[in-house]
Amino acid sequence: MIYEDYYIFTPGPVKMSDEILEVGSKQTPYFRNCKFSDVTYACEKGLLEMVNAPEGSRVIFLTASGTAGMEATVMNLLSKDDNALVVNGGGFGNRFVTICDVHGVPHTDFKVKDTNLHDIEALAPKENYTSLIVNAHETSVGHLYDLDAMGAYAKKSDLLFIVDAISMLVTDPLDMQSQNIDVVIASSQKGLALPPGLTMVILSPRALERVQDVKSLYFNFKDYLKNGERGQTPYTPAVTIMLQLEARLNQIRRRGGVQQSIKRAKDIAEYFREEIKGLPLKEYTPYMPNAMTTLTPTDGKSAMDIVNDLEERYKVMVCPNGGAERDIIFRVSHMGDMTKAYTDVLIDALYDYYDMKRV
Ligand SMILES: *Cc1c(COP(=O)(O)O)cnc(C)c1O
Repeated sequence: MIYEDYYIFTPGPVKMSDEILEVGSKQTPYFRNCKFSDVTYACEKGLLEMVNAPEGSRVIFLTASGTAGMEATVMNLLSKDDNALVVNGGGFGNRFVTICDVHGVPHTDFKVKDTNLHDIEALAPKENYTSLIVNAHETSVGHLYDLDAMGAYAKKSDLLFIVDAISMLVTDPLDMQSQNIDVVIASSQKGLALPPGLTMVILSPRALERVQDVKSLYFNFKDYLKNGERGQTPYTPAVTIMLQLEARLNQIRRRGGVQQSIKRAKDIAEYFREEIKGLPLKEYTPYMPNAMTTLTPTDGKSAMDIVNDLEERYKVMVCPNGGAERDIIFRVSHMGDMTKAYTDVLIDALYDYYDMKRV
């Protein structure tokens, strides 16, 4: 199998645990029955718990990658009568801007640099908005926004607060109730550490009231909500990934809950950042999530060359950037079934690559 024996530090797909891999190796069962409805209910309950969703919230399970969750959310909740403030600090923010363009939703492309928006109140354009949209962790550069400040701003301005939490759930804190979040978009292949193919949209009661009729068969939330009442989806779900999600939510619970998983990710991210201090690499942003570390070479080496050498010489996969950032940065994910011992493989490879001694 391709890359089976490689060490994987990419921000999706991420390292999966043996327990979850085992669930994925089984025969996919038939699903139009009560047994599978119970799986759906368990997944919905576990996800709502994990994000501290307000009473009456619901989850939509879409068989698609995370971008479908982003697009379906905009399609089902916003219209030409809205005005969205879209935070754009990189590739994923830009994707939300494109989605608003495609679907004719009026919006401001709110370009953000060098701040985590703790000062959003002062920075936001003084327009009348109806919605605030953000990728909580802008994965293209490894930038985490201040959801507390953004939620407070959304509440004060009465905005529907839509948060793509795809690359920070399970590794970084998120709380729908205390942060006034109306919609959380999740996806299987990042912090949840499952195979790609399942995206989940968590809707608060306030968001549920906004679900409208849409010109789409597959991405019609009303249809999903109606079927969801009996634990089903309108079309064939990613059955096996749902079974893996159920197992993963149980695993998180068994390991002490989501707070414990966040702490574990934080410990590993801090360990990695501390251990590589002796190398000619510097942190790209002061607003890093626990989910990922973005690094810039300080000795003139090309980031892309480092990525390629790590793969070829050490079977270690980290993540390159494209375009203008090709030579400037590379990314190291701490999401998934990470341990310090596993992270040591990357740290040792980096020291060997630079021909330096790890102390
Ligand atoms: C990975 C990711 C997505 C989804 O990308 P897909 O390739 O469609 O799964 C969306 N938003 C963020 C912030 C991501 O990191």
